[in-house]
Amino acid sequence: MSNASPLQPKGQAATAPHESCGFQRGLAAPAQARNGATAVGIVFDIKEFAVFDGPGIRTTVFMKGCPLRCQWCHNPEGLSPKPQLMVSTAACVHCGACERACPLGAEVPTGGCWQPKGCTACGACVPACRGGFRKIAGTAWTAEDLAARLNKDADVFRATGGGVTFSGGEPLLQWDFVSGVLDRLAGVHTAVETSGFTTDAVFAQVMEKLDLVMMDWKVSDPEAHRRYTGVDQAPIRRHARMLAAGDTPFILRMPIIPGVNDEREHFETVAELVKGAKSLVRVDVLPYQRAAGAKYDMVGRTYAPEFDEAAAPKYFLDVFEREGIPCQVFR
Ligand code: SF4
Ligand code: SF4
Repeated sequence: MSNASPLQPKGQAATAPHESCGFQRGLAAPAQARNGATAVGIVFDIKEFAVFDGPGIRTTVFMKGCPLRCQWCHNPEGLSPKPQLMVSTAACVHCGACERACPLGAEVPTGGCWQPKGCTACGACVPACRGGFRKIAGTAWTAEDLAARLNKDADVFRATGGGVTFSGGEPLLQWDFVSGVLDRLAGVHTAVETSGFTTDAVFAQVMEKLDLVMMDWKVSDPEAHRRYTGVDQAPIRRHARMLAAGDTPFILRMPIIPGVNDEREHFETVAELVKGAKSLVRVDVLPYQRAAGAKYDMVGRTYAPEFDEAAAPKYFLDVFEREGIPCQVFR
């Protein structure tokens, strides 16, 4: 366990408690302005009063774009790095107002609710829908504006031991921007939820700058990892080892997917990775959410996992008990 408190901002004395997207599936190589001064980041949601994304009351910023394609992803609007249209097709009453408002007009045929293939996410159809069934996921923010918005609640964060969490998508895909926002936060606790899939150089900066790193360990077998997430496990394993050897407080998070990783060997691999790590806060066990596929239709994607969603996942928590590893299960 860490001597450093995950509730306390770095450098501060203890106070109150505290695919069609056109981008490469390689390691994130952020390309924005130096130190984030003029960088623009694409954010698909900002959730205030979040209580499950780190200690205390927090604001969670969901950054758009992810290089992984986890078969159980429940935020499909976070996959593409670009702004995109979302439509609640199940609620649509087919009045046609969105089609009439769209600059693409009737030149682009579509079935039922208006979601043309060449959609530019211009947003013209959003106010036209009286039911509010349309929205654009993905808004451009400057680091200055986002930091100003987050700093407004600095007193609440300090009073509750809370702070700001960057999530996604994969927030490290836009690291230069996130880093620029971090530089402008008013001494509040900061955390990141990441897949760990980035370069070693970026990950070292993350460990230096953030007060708490919450990193996923999804699949232990490298071949199965590629099959179920779409990417190489090697950099994630390196970053898990960096966390275990470092002094940045961290939580390793295990999404448990039936038939994919609900095996004793997987729990034993996690125990091996974190055993003896002085900065480990705990391991989080996150059971599969059966509603994971709910939003795919809204972004024109199909949810088609290769595992049996209805199966009950198995847990091997005795592995952590035996090793004295702190663990929390979010059932
Ligand atoms: S976002 Fe723009 S291009 Fe896309 S459907 Fe709406 S009006 Fe048409
Ligand atoms: S305006 Fe709204 S309700 Fe009418 S067709 Fe478009 S999405 Fe459906």
